[in-house]
Amino acid sequence: MSRVLIIGAGGVGNVVVHKCAQLPSVFSEIMLAGRTESKCIKIAENVRIRTGTNILTARVDADRNSETIDLIRSFKPELVINVALPYQDLPIMDACLETGVNYLDTANYEPPDEAKFEYKWQWAYHDRFKKKGIMALLGSGFDPGVTNVFCAHALKNRFDDIHELDIIDCNAGDHGHAFATNFNPEINLREVTAKGRYWENATWVETEPLAESMTFDFPEGIGPKKCYLMYHEELESLVKHFTGIKRARFWMTFSDNYLNHLEVLQNVGMTRIDPVMYEGMEIIPLKFLKALLPDPASLGPATKGKTCIGCLIKGIRNDKNLQYFIYNICDHQEAYREVGAQAISYTTGVPAMIGAMMILTRKWQGKGVFNMEQFDPDPFLEQLQIHGLPWTEIIWND
Ligand code: NDP
Repeated sequence: MSRVLIIGAGGVGNVVVHKCAQLPSVFSEIMLAGRTESKCIKIAENVRIRTGTNILTARVDADRNSETIDLIRSFKPELVINVALPYQDLPIMDACLETGVNYLDTANYEPPDEAKFEYKWQWAYHDRFKKKGIMALLGSGFDPGVTNVFCAHALKNRFDDIHELDIIDCNAGDHGHAFATNFNPEINLREVTAKGRYWENATWVETEPLAESMTFDFPEGIGPKKCYLMYHEELESLVKHFTGIKRARFWMTFSDNYLNHLEVLQNVGMTRIDPVMYEGMEIIPLKFLKALLPDPASLGPATKGKTCIGCLIKGIRNDKNLQYFIYNICDHQEAYREVGAQAISYTTGVPAMIGAMMILTRKWQGKGVFNMEQFDPDPFLEQLQIHGLPWTEIIWND
């Protein structure tokens, strides 16, 4: 029986609150806090209708350390689940350190003025979290998150060593808009327009944004889709913790329509993150674009189709070369029926709830800052099967 404070009332926050509310034996009291309390209240009302559970709400600007500290001191949670934006990671970790409360997030810290995805800022908290006797679990979404756990499972239960890893993320859904992003547009476009990077023979290789592609034949009726090489943060922690990996890459599918819109937006400067003067006022084009694009949380009712995210792995077992694919398929409309959200928010929110469950039920214990692959994958994967994200694996001779 534990109290959790969830910060961030967006698409992912909505799913986390719903999923925690479905498990009162683990999450006995839940508070949802965000910058705009009306969004928290709306989610709490939907959760009450669906599950009968009452959720407390509060307003907090998590960029202001003192506000988060005051809220933690008054609510006294055992864990803070941060599903606000990556910019809030460090201030919320600071508040957890100050108050001695465990921390969990789904995306690594990014400095607002530079699209840079690195764990160094959060890993630097390890000794202070350890000294305080609390734990931080980083990246408990799908990718990062479940993909890290899939790799840990492959290494623990299927291979003696893994050598090549391709994380492949496909959204084969259709939301009916000319252009929209499936999670926070600012964070999504910063990620997509950044240079690609992959790990090969103990070094990082950089590529131009979306310059490399491959076609992958996705299972369960999705079929062949073009995937583009990108950098994704879990590559950094996976090659650090699993030193046998010789090559690690991350791929994501994009439709031609999405890429055409993106190219035009980039060409006219709408994805810039540096301030420009407009009628005597400084504006950041990407933030302005975010205000124009559909709110990802509103895409749920119209989005049809499925997502498939998985890890394609090559390695050895008993001196035999094997290939292996482990994946989840999530249906946008089934997710919407259950929690009122599309599958991208769902595939992030469910693992956040399960990561929280691992901490609160002491299945995953530690003092310091950890990535998902550092813990036993078995109890996490067991819960994933039960709570809406079943996974499938296939293995064959290479
Ligand atoms: P949204 O933009 O829908 O929601 C973000 C929420 O955070 C908003 O409600 C926003 O409030 C709130 N927020 C922003 N700044 C603050 C602040 N200073 N204090 C308090 N609350 C704040 O984003 P998503 O729900 O789509 O994404 C949430 C997180 O999940 C992001 O970090 C994203 O990168 C991550 N993610 C991870 C994935 C994974 O697989 N690991 C996949 C997808 C997303 P307001 O409404 O007032 O602006």
